[in-house]
Amino acid sequence: TQQPVNVTVTGAAGQIGYALLFRIAAGHLLGPDVPVRLRLLEVPQAVKAAQGVALELDDSAFPLLAGIDIHDDATAAFDGANVALLVGARPRTAGMERGDLLSANGGIFGPQGAAINAGAADDIRVLVVGNPANTNAYIAAAAAPDVPKDRFTAMTRLDHNRALAQLSARTGAPVTEIERVTIWGNHSATQYPDLSHATIGGRPALEVVGDDAWVRDTFIPTVAKRGAAIIEARGASSAASAANAALDHVHTWVNGTPDGDWTSAGVVSDGSYGVPEGLISSFPVTVSGGVLTIVPGLEIDEFSRGRIDASVAELVEERDAVRALGLV
Ligand code: NDP
Repeated sequence: TQQPVNVTVTGAAGQIGYALLFRIAAGHLLGPDVPVRLRLLEVPQAVKAAQGVALELDDSAFPLLAGIDIHDDATAAFDGANVALLVGARPRTAGMERGDLLSANGGIFGPQGAAINAGAADDIRVLVVGNPANTNAYIAAAAAPDVPKDRFTAMTRLDHNRALAQLSARTGAPVTEIERVTIWGNHSATQYPDLSHATIGGRPALEVVGDDAWVRDTFIPTVAKRGAAIIEARGASSAASAANAALDHVHTWVNGTPDGDWTSAGVVSDGSYGVPEGLISSFPVTVSGGVLTIVPGLEIDEFSRGRIDASVAELVEERDAVRALGLV
């Protein structure tokens, strides 16, 4: 029988954590045959709530759940971790300056990166969900010099899934027929959901849609601003869909992308598509043998060029700000 895989989840007592942990324990992260051991990291004041979630996990009698440990110390929480889902972050509150937001998160993701560097397993894979996710991943990776940079990723799979859903609703095609959608850049309102390479049932998606104005004026802003629409409707941030996307991201990272298709993920740039090397930016990526590869050689039209450059410019600003603050 297989040894349990150690999965560390930070912010485990939060909304996303609550939607995530039960599905990890049910086998939706790694597959229906892979036992998991959950390591929950929380700030001290939320440890009691995390213990409550652990009681409910116990009460679910998940066959794949080999154990649950609860920590308020990052070094202990990441010791031996194979997968790390960094969900807990300092949210932006009204009137907060960007520098304060980045500083607060530097104080979280720097030490977590260092703890991963010190004690995680050699095959560690890190997904950052907590915002600003790309820059938080950049900070964590910088604090982990012994871990290959390509093990640090940021989540844009929710944006990717939102794009699939919007395109499916518009065209009536099932999401399973839609391929090669891309989210570029930052997981923020500047992100660029790109249909120029997408296909529906093998046909160019833009041809099927046949309405460039819809793509530009409806599709792109709807995907990019979907988080705000959820808050407006639900009175709370998206949580179950964010958790679902985190599961999708890791599941794809471990099990691969289907032939001919790709997904979107925030990964360290190798300089492709004019994105400065070292930034964590969303790209079209394929996965084979557990390795993420940026899809090479796509033609980028003028409209896409402008949109990608604008989102990447925001990532450069965030990187320069964390450098100036001495966080990396
Ligand atoms: P959530 O679980 O709702 O969200 C957690 C993070 O995920 C936030 O940064 C949120 O960003 C982000 N996020 C990324 N994508 C999405 C998305 N599509 N939709 C919604 N959120 C998204 O927050 P809670 O406040 O319920 O819980 C956070 C928990 O983290 C708390 O229990 C807190 O104690 C804990 N925490 C733990 C830390 C640690 O373990 N060291 C450090 C800091 C906090 P956004 O704010 O932009 O919505």
